[in-house]
Amino acid sequence: MKAVVKVRKGVGSIEVRDVPEPQPGPGEVKIKIAACGVCGSDIHVRHDRFPYWPPVILGHEFTGTIVELGSGCRYYQVGERVVAEPHTRSCGQCYLCRTGHIEICPQKRSPGWGIDGAMTEYICYPEQLLHRIPDQMTWDQAALVEPTANAVTDVLLRTGVVAGDYVVVQGPGPIGLLAALVARAAGAREVAIIGAPGDVELRLPTARKLGFTQVINIAETDPVEAVLDQTRGIGADVVVECSGSPKAIAATADLVRKRGKICAIGLAGGQPVELPWDKFAFKVADVRFSLSTEYQAWDRTIHLIASGLVPAERIITHREPLDRWERVFDEIENLRALKALLIP
Ligand SMILES: [Zn+2]
Ligand SMILES: [Zn+2]
Repeated sequence: MKAVVKVRKGVGSIEVRDVPEPQPGPGEVKIKIAACGVCGSDIHVRHDRFPYWPPVILGHEFTGTIVELGSGCRYYQVGERVVAEPHTRSCGQCYLCRTGHIEICPQKRSPGWGIDGAMTEYICYPEQLLHRIPDQMTWDQAALVEPTANAVTDVLLRTGVVAGDYVVVQGPGPIGLLAALVARAAGAREVAIIGAPGDVELRLPTARKLGFTQVINIAETDPVEAVLDQTRGIGADVVVECSGSPKAIAATADLVRKRGKICAIGLAGGQPVELPWDKFAFKVADVRFSLSTEYQAWDRTIHLIASGLVPAERIITHREPLDRWERVFDEIENLRALKALLIP
């Protein structure tokens, strides 16, 4: 079968290769992949900026149909359509695993970098990490469950946006836009979206198309002034930081209201970030960090997308065959794509 493989360590070194079809081990099902989204982590593996164990098939944002059961499978059947938590190789014994947080187990090695992923035709996967999707859910919608489950984990479970909140999202990439959709579904009275000049071509117009009206380009409008203006000088109840830009991260202290919450999602790529510490103190702000997806986020996300409350599939800009991976990765890096799917 064809697969997009990171063949060795170093920058680049990705090829479409013919690899043997995997066979399901005990407790694993074999899934025929219908679509696999391209994630920021796949791009980071391309550029050698993320841990990985080559040769490894890329991709973890997948959906598909079960075609075979390994020995001992108890909960799923051939023909069922599923999505999968990417928390493979979590140990099951450490403090985090035992308290329900397999997603941040130090032993975890996810598909796409730690073990073979889903930019291919078939994957064998532990049954216990699967979630069924409803019949009416499209493959486009299902492929967006994993990234949306991140937004649900961060914005709903960790930060706790509640109805009536004024929410600011800075960094309108795929996760930022999904976070905005999730905040709106949670009943936010307003979700203001802040972007940079690089976002003018695709990301900010997409935000408008999704129905967000307070869309701010920092090159034209001072976001802090705009948000204070909209909130009668109080500030945002919740600031969702998805940009990873050190300046924007520091500015969360100016955007948030006193005793407001900051949902920290974007990574700064290893660079140090200078923070106005006393400002955070005087704002009495809660800063919530998040990584990956909690178990409770998954079925909730499936329902939110399937019901149309979170139209996550509307951020898909590209659907391409595996052979076209390079063009797709380039488009993402040049900010000409939001969510791209590879269809085997
Ligand atoms: Zn992802
Ligand atoms: Zn563990």
